[in-house]
Amino acid sequence: MKILVTNDDGIGAPSLWVLVEELQKTARVTVAAPDRERSAIGTAVTLFQPLHAEPYRAPVAGVTAYAVDGSPSDCVILALGKLVEGGTDLVISGINPNHNVGEDVHISGTVGGALQGYFRGLPAIAISAPPGSRPGLDSAARVAASLAEKLAGHPGTRVFLNVNVPDLPLAEIKGARITRLARSSHINTVEEDHHDGRKHYWLVRERTIEAGDEGTDIQAIEQGYVSLTALYTSLLDKPPQRLLKKLSAELSMELVT
Ligand code: MN
Repeated sequence: MKILVTNDDGIGAPSLWVLVEELQKTARVTVAAPDRERSAIGTAVTLFQPLHAEPYRAPVAGVTAYAVDGSPSDCVILALGKLVEGGTDLVISGINPNHNVGEDVHISGTVGGALQGYFRGLPAIAISAPPGSRPGLDSAARVAASLAEKLAGHPGTRVFLNVNVPDLPLAEIKGARITRLARSSHINTVEEDHHDGRKHYWLVRERTIEAGDEGTDIQAIEQGYVSLTALYTSLLDKPPQRLLKKLSAELSMELVT
């Protein structure tokens, strides 16, 4: 299986390489990631200036990597259009070291990058772990690799999974749930201060996750489950329910044994 990996935290982010190291055990991985922090850039693409892709020395053996001076969306468009030879089976974006839940998926660069794979007819996964959690990060890498292996059996399926992993080691995760997005945004505060005679405003991300409603992504991760939210962009292109149920059931079985 050939996997293209991107992220929105930049090619130097440790969480990217935790994912790549796990994927590389069973797949051929190419990385095209922003050359700097591009979180919260959403689906932005660069149209009015050229892009550049510099070969990057990957800390994982056997991986081809490029640092791109653009957004996660740029990285995926450029990689699928020019950089990767011999086709791509799956696009994975992450691991974002912060959950991407609720309506924040619209501003997430992690989700934005994966979306470009989905737009191009490939299965796509955006994967996020809780902030500052090594167990969560390792669990997320394993969950992404497992989903990639399962999706390999369904080539050509248009499915876009936004995956959030709870703050738990793999052995303590209770299973997987198919969820819907919670109706909430965590960028809900504006703070202000003064510098150099000017007033500065900061949009602040509220880091504590509030109790989620029944069936939402937030509730699932709070209760110790992997949240699988199928995102889709067209009413004519709804997520394949049977495949989702199969993925969720198989992942749950794997996690609780
Ligand atoms: Mn990020």
